[in-house]
Amino acid sequence: MTTNADWFERAAQVIPGGVNSPVRAFRSVGGTPYFVARAEGPHVWDVEGRRYVDLVQSYGAVILGHAAPEIVEAVVAAAGRGTSYGAPTAGEVLLAEAIRERVPSCEQVRLVSSGTEATMTALRVARGFTGRSRIVKFAGNYHGHSDALLVEGGSGIATLGLPGSAGVTDGAVADTLVAPYNVVPTLTEDVACVIVEPVAANMGLVAPVPGFLEGLRAECDRVGALLVFDEVITGFRLARGGAQARYGVRPDLTAFGKVIGGGLPIGAVGGRRDVMAVLAPLGPVYQAGTLSGNPVATAAGLAALAALDAAAYELVEARATRLAEGLQDAFDGAGLTARVPRVGTLVGVHFGPEVPVDYDGARRTDEGVYRALFHALLERGVAIAPGAYEVVFCGLAHDDEVLDTVLAASGEAARVVAASHPAP
Ligand SMILES: *Cc1c(COP(=O)(O)O)cnc(C)c1O
Repeated sequence: MTTNADWFERAAQVIPGGVNSPVRAFRSVGGTPYFVARAEGPHVWDVEGRRYVDLVQSYGAVILGHAAPEIVEAVVAAAGRGTSYGAPTAGEVLLAEAIRERVPSCEQVRLVSSGTEATMTALRVARGFTGRSRIVKFAGNYHGHSDALLVEGGSGIATLGLPGSAGVTDGAVADTLVAPYNVVPTLTEDVACVIVEPVAANMGLVAPVPGFLEGLRAECDRVGALLVFDEVITGFRLARGGAQARYGVRPDLTAFGKVIGGGLPIGAVGGRRDVMAVLAPLGPVYQAGTLSGNPVATAAGLAALAALDAAAYELVEARATRLAEGLQDAFDGAGLTARVPRVGTLVGVHFGPEVPVDYDGARRTDEGVYRALFHALLERGVAIAPGAYEVVFCGLAHDDEVLDTVLAASGEAARVVAASHPAP
């Protein structure tokens, strides 16, 4: 049998670090990544035939569960009609309409191929519209890997303990200002936009404090800057209308990704009609993509959104609640100092006494405890992300029986971890 270790060794010969996205490499938790052979519903199977309850869910891209029949059918049907044309399709119109119908601030929508492209495009649009250069981002928020946005990013940047990235010139970040999350910065009139994760989900899970998002809206309005919500995780996961519906704050631009592709590569940027009008071919801001609005990805995205009605969000939220409470009980029962914050359908795990409100707080998580828990869970057939700053994703496939398994494994795993990491 070809093992995970065999594949990882082969992978490392042809792929840097053996992976196509850094956090998959297990660098921060140690060990060899499992190579996925297939997945169905809440489970993934590795190439050695081991089954795991999957709480990674493609870092949030999957919400219906793996290989959901409606997505598979849509993908197969679309692929049979051709996989890319270089001409517009009805599917793109239907997906843009579906987004606008759910998120009214998105009067116009442009489809791209990833979340990174969506935020990158949002910045260019904001700069083109305002004629200003500076942008403001928040420490610990992750907006993909474009040059201007990598500074003090969460996700893999946090996991690897990096301040940013080599290969990014000083010039590329000269106009990027970094502010602490959950504090409304005082803006100057050279700021084109403020970009924010309305619920931060790449430094563990950090909720916006009351007034933060409203304060950003007011401060942007005061100086004529645009407010950009990065809803790549929260969009169509937190609620049908995303974080902006939940908090009642209307951004000028919104970036989407993950859920809107039903597990295929897609992203979108949407917003005010007058702002979006700067985009080529209407306006002077250039943006393009050979595979933008890809027919297979749009079909998968439409199938995902169609399945996500009000009842679906209630169900996912009920499951997230049970998961969060169960994990907290497991950690408390074992004597581990932990906080399991939850916002709607999103769950975080923080190994410290205080629920974090910013990146400094988030970084106080005990990564050693996370590492130990990660392996103790994996041995018991439960997969969480191999990085302490990711959230724990559940979805429509994680029914009560699956959660029973997860929580039983968590109880055992927490006791094992507590034995090797006694409270100070
Ligand atoms: C994942 C993520 C991105 C980047 O999306 P990719 O599709 O990985 O490029 C951007 N913003 C947030 C909030 C994300 O979680």
